[in-house]
Amino acid sequence: MKAARLTAWARTMIPGMAKIPAVRLGIDLGGTKIHCLVIDRKGRVLGTSRASTKASRGYAAVVERIAEVAHEAMDDAGIRRRDLKAVGIGAPGMIDPAGGVIQLAPNLGWRSKPLADDLGDELDLPVVLGNDVNFGALGEATYGGSRKAASSFAVFVGTGLGGGLVVGGRVVNGSHGFGGEIGHIPAPFGQARCGCGRCGCLETTASRTGLVRLVRQAAAAGRRCLLPTGEVRSGHLVKAYDAGCPATRAALAEMLAALGWGLATVGNVVDPEVFVIGGGVAEAFGKRLLAPLARAMTADAVLYQRHRPALRLAELGDDAVAIGAAVASGEA
Ligand SMILES: [Zn+2]
Repeated sequence: MKAARLTAWARTMIPGMAKIPAVRLGIDLGGTKIHCLVIDRKGRVLGTSRASTKASRGYAAVVERIAEVAHEAMDDAGIRRRDLKAVGIGAPGMIDPAGGVIQLAPNLGWRSKPLADDLGDELDLPVVLGNDVNFGALGEATYGGSRKAASSFAVFVGTGLGGGLVVGGRVVNGSHGFGGEIGHIPAPFGQARCGCGRCGCLETTASRTGLVRLVRQAAAAGRRCLLPTGEVRSGHLVKAYDAGCPATRAALAEMLAALGWGLATVGNVVDPEVFVIGGGVAEAFGKRLLAPLARAMTADAVLYQRHRPALRLAELGDDAVAIGAAVASGEA
């Protein structure tokens, strides 16, 4: 009864549910590439365009480039600018979504850039700016792994660990744009240095970076290791895991215990209906992750001793951020 009521409430919270624009355009701005797509009401991709960001050319050149990529995606979808009501763009770093400002984006070398206004001038359309991970969570909550859930928390496990909370079809950005930042929870799994400058943040363990560090530690402690030396991709880790590599198996168990602790912590605070697990590590390991994660969450939270955690794999892959940005453009 309670769940049914919550879902009905959530529907009333989805802005313009009855009049979603026929086409929406979303952009994923990354440090190395720009990915843009056009979707219809059902989230089907009608057209796409990609280009390298070339951030070294400076802010103004990148803004122009984003506009070009957007026009190419419109051409690919067979639509015109006047078919769009607005445009959404997800960017990395610290974002002020209300002001449309990128406060700090180390990947792009930007500080205090009013991207929503500048790109809006370039495209002659309103622009909705958001954090890329939060838009990834919104994409998954609308058309991916957590669609139909009244509330969901998505984590993306890659080089780092990002998270996003979506309630009633809306991203919870928080009052400083920091909502969902699970990666920087101070966690009891060692004191490795984090990219944020602090030590022991959850993402220093619950990420591909953390996983590789744990494999190397296990090998140094004498466990047999099948992982090649040098740069490691998620595919290498899965291959070693499936070959029975003792160091990789022990490290993955440790990494998932940390991630499960993080998700149990989120559960204790917001108790979302569904958790979505995405990012490069999740795409590579797939379902292998779900049972150990659920076990860790059950061990760490009384909530999940009473209610089995609902864990789903992300479904939108590399399109999640751009699709979420397109969804957010419907709120402009
Ligand atoms: Zn940190």
